[in-house]
Amino acid sequence: MKPPKFKYIAPDNLADVVQLLAEEPDAKVVAGGQSLMPLLAMRLAGPSVLVDLRNVSGLQRIDVGDTEIRIGARVTHDAVEHSAALLAALPMLPTAARFIAHPQIRSRGTFGGSTAHADPSAEWPTVLLALDAVVDVVGPAGERSIPVDNFFTGPFTSSMAADEVLIAVRIPRDDRHWAFQETARKAGDYGLAIVAATAEITEGKIRGARFSVGGAVGTVTRLGAVEETLEGALAGDETSRRAESVAASTVEPISDIHGSSDYRRRLVGALVRRAVADLSKGA
Ligand SMILES: Cc1cc2nc3c(=O)[nH]c(=O)nc-3n(C[C@H](O)[C@H](O)[C@H](O)COP(=O)(O)OP(=O)(O)OC[C@H]3O[C@@H](n4cnc5c(N)ncnc54)[C@H](O)[C@@H]3O)c2cc1C
Repeated sequence: MKPPKFKYIAPDNLADVVQLLAEEPDAKVVAGGQSLMPLLAMRLAGPSVLVDLRNVSGLQRIDVGDTEIRIGARVTHDAVEHSAALLAALPMLPTAARFIAHPQIRSRGTFGGSTAHADPSAEWPTVLLALDAVVDVVGPAGERSIPVDNFFTGPFTSSMAADEVLIAVRIPRDDRHWAFQETARKAGDYGLAIVAATAEITEGKIRGARFSVGGAVGTVTRLGAVEETLEGALAGDETSRRAESVAASTVEPISDIHGSSDYRRRLVGALVRRAVADLSKGA
């Protein structure tokens, strides 16, 4: 199918983007187009105006500072995958990037687009929840920062307003241990279940764990019961198995043609067990 008719505008500054979104309630930002264009082609979306970010400068930077990492909205998945600075500072990001679709899609799809799209099966939303990230947006009232725990509010829904533009994601830089686990039917497919985790490990004990789940659920979410179970626990096999059982009994999985909720429940448990083991290995 072909997309419905739309006007296409590619301003060269953010102020004009914001103004266009405010003037045309039906307008939509387009970044890499890797999620939006298929929706248009299938006529599941029909914006009257597409406002392309391609000419707006300053959104393609990856800045690794002493205390935080800042990833601009138009940084592609491919740029994250191949960033030497990120590989040194937070290898979790290049590792997760390799699970996103295929190289062709990674070379166009953007970090900001994936975050704004809030797909519950996408890698970045899941990863960002485990990293205590902050999402910076700009709208008619100016800039604001949204802690990621308040950002993903439902399937394909975020707390960003329709006339706001995501400009960057900031991630605190620290020496927490991390783990990323995903199972997909085949390489490049969306994950049937994705688990991301970070934690401090001091004297063999896990502290301040952040566990998040995507792929298996309707909205990416933290696994609070797993985090509570792990607080102060000794990293090791017994703790991994306990976390698996807590994850499997508390997650609320979806069911679809790719996998039943019971299958996904067991999968999330297994991925949590592996993630705890990975965190422990780093201890
Ligand atoms: C075959 C295929 C397989 C895929 N597999 C995966 C996968 O395994 N994992 C995965 O995570 N993704 C996957 N994707 C999606 C891909 O990662 C997209 O790149 C990503 O979801 C959206 O990024 P984009 O830059 O292409 O956004 P676009 O498609 O341009 O936009 C997506 C949505 O976000 C909004 N948006 C974009 N940028 C901004 C911004 N800066 N501010 C405000 N709103 C904005 C748009 O208005 C639109 O609603 C796949 C896509 C395809 C076509």
